[in-house]
Amino acid sequence: KDMKFSTALKRQKNPSSNDGADATLNTAESVAITRRSLPVYSVKNQLMNIIREHQICVIVGETGSGKTTQLTQYLEEEGYARFGIIGCTQPRRVAAVSVAQRVSEEFHGGSELGQQVGYTIRFEDSTSEKTVIKYMTDGILLRESLGDPELERYSVIIMDEAHERSLNTDVLFGVLRGVVTRRQDLKVIITSATLNAEKFANFFGAAPIFKIPGRTFPVDTFFSKTPIEDYVDGAVWQAIQIHIQAPLPGDILIFMTGQEDIETTCEALAEKIGRLEKPRPLLILPIYSQLAADLQAKIFEPAPEGYRKVVVATNIAETSLTINGIHYVIDSGYCKLKTYNPRLGMDALLLCPASQSSANQRSGRAGRTGPGKCYRLFTSSAYVTEMLDTNVPEIQRTNLSHVVLLLKTLGVKDLLDFPFLDPPPAENILKSMLGLWLLGAFDLDGNLTKLGRRMAIFPLDPALSNLLFRGEEFGCLLEAVTIVAMLSVPNVFMRPHGREDESDSAREKFFVPESDHLTLLHVYQRWRAAGCRTDWCAKHYISGKSMRKAREVREQLLEIVRSEGMAETSTDEWDSIRRAIASAFFYQAARRKGIGEYINIRSGVVCGLHPTSALYGTGLSPDYVVYHELIMTRKEYMSCVTAVDPHWLAEAGPALYILKQAGEEGVQAAKRLRERRAKIEDQMRLSSQETLESK
Ligand code: ADP
Ligand code: MG
Repeated sequence: KDMKFSTALKRQKNPSSNDGADATLNTAESVAITRRSLPVYSVKNQLMNIIREHQICVIVGETGSGKTTQLTQYLEEEGYARFGIIGCTQPRRVAAVSVAQRVSEEFHGGSELGQQVGYTIRFEDSTSEKTVIKYMTDGILLRESLGDPELERYSVIIMDEAHERSLNTDVLFGVLRGVVTRRQDLKVIITSATLNAEKFANFFGAAPIFKIPGRTFPVDTFFSKTPIEDYVDGAVWQAIQIHIQAPLPGDILIFMTGQEDIETTCEALAEKIGRLEKPRPLLILPIYSQLAADLQAKIFEPAPEGYRKVVVATNIAETSLTINGIHYVIDSGYCKLKTYNPRLGMDALLLCPASQSSANQRSGRAGRTGPGKCYRLFTSSAYVTEMLDTNVPEIQRTNLSHVVLLLKTLGVKDLLDFPFLDPPPAENILKSMLGLWLLGAFDLDGNLTKLGRRMAIFPLDPALSNLLFRGEEFGCLLEAVTIVAMLSVPNVFMRPHGREDESDSAREKFFVPESDHLTLLHVYQRWRAAGCRTDWCAKHYISGKSMRKAREVREQLLEIVRSEGMAETSTDEWDSIRRAIASAFFYQAARRKGIGEYINIRSGVVCGLHPTSALYGTGLSPDYVVYHELIMTRKEYMSCVTAVDPHWLAEAGPALYILKQAGEEGVQAAKRLRERRAKIEDQMRLSSQETLESK
């Protein structure tokens, strides 16, 4: 047995072997061997000593060294789970799920996911009474701190992937700094894949930094000689070259920006391979956050004998997930970043050049098990001139309204004084506060109102929680819950390649002419009436997966609705629902300028109805609309739109709208409001008031 063990170990360390593919070993044994071969294993004792002796520590280690999967298990073996749960936060949902899956397989020779090892992400809880190791998104832990400010359930909190600098992790830093002073028994461990960990250590007052010795191999990096026009074409060409020329084994990892270009790349690759004569088989696997969990898990499986594996990924594969056997990396040089657009007054996903540190992380993926090669689809001068050296932390570039509401609920009085690792621009904080004031979550002095407190209870963007309260007010809470649930899941309308016409006309059958929100409600109601059947979904080009997810979200929202004692009202009068929608989204409104063309009331920017909108499809062009989101392509589009009566807007947002025809009393009221608003605007600089024509 020992013989077998040592040869297997040797194989694991052998750069050219295909990790984890040893068929002669049973799974439990091979899992144990793999675990022992991880870099973190060699320093396990030192690591546990540091953790025992310090309340807070920072751990730095190369991606794939075993930080995420092993630390939690070591802590459990050391007995930390006796006093509470060992929690580990992840900035990405996919990573939380995938890692929990893996750790449950490793845990004490194998356990069932959701038992001792589980995960929680928004609207999905896979934990139980027995759970001792819990992976979760950073947003979940932040939310839990609302009901449990001292995080009493936890004995250890690992803030994983701190280098990602996600908004929620950054905020958690500030929250935890308070908790650790009050709870001496709570251990906090911060892990990072990059060396600039001093900032984290200093933030907690000189916490020790422990480096896991890395085991990396050299990576030859090639820049493109000339700028590449289409990085998808470029990546496909490069991957085919490698596949034809390079010997096996040696899998390829391609970094793309999102679902769309990942799918295009996969299709183009499959097509190109199909056109080769007697090609060696290629296993093409996508990975992005909306991909079904069973397909996500496939990227970890070794390619079958004689195959080469190509994984086409978002930056999730940069540090969050490690795929074994990668020898070649192809880097598009781009990523999508959520960025606050002050002109639109909201976040938009922007295609941006990746940072230099991202590019270096990406190339590093090729050198984990042996020497590798990285092909960069950008020039060396672009690397120097167009790429920032590190990513801008999310907190400095996105909308903060959700976070502001949470922190206020946690009792933070002055947000400008909160201990942020890197404070967001004061203007962003003030803008978010203004938005929340318009929603009624804050009073004039910036204190949380009762409504604001209730909004924070829902795990939703404040604007969507607001729709629930408006629904309650207008007698259609159940419908509002359904609409919010439908807005919280990936698009339910499918539009498969080559079937665009059929799917478009299928979608049109669900249209409620005045409203995309009502159209979504309509789809849900019809789906329920059809017994939630799969064949019904297929026939109408509706995504069954999204529908089932919407049903789950709906149930969870209803639980909160019940626990809050809200009146579960319902109506079949669609105008009442439109009214609720108008009064929830009054500050996201637009006035008609021409056919299908609108002017945004707050920003003054011209925007169009999105071609998928029911209003577009039915040719309706109402004078006023509210929208759920703006989409930026070549033009600005409003997506998910509802036609509204301007009086409804005026009623919901008197601070934004004045009715022209109002009598003396109205004029006085408007004046008072204007004065009040001026007080806030002084600080917050808001665009001008909209004057509505009254009929
Ligand atoms: P780190 O957090 O230091 O980047 P991880 O703990 O994520 O490292 O990874 C350690 C090892 O576990 C890697 O070799 C990785 O490939 C493997 N691993 C992680 N998740 C899975 C999974 N879902 N399936 C198979 N292997 C996995
Ligand atoms: Mg990790």
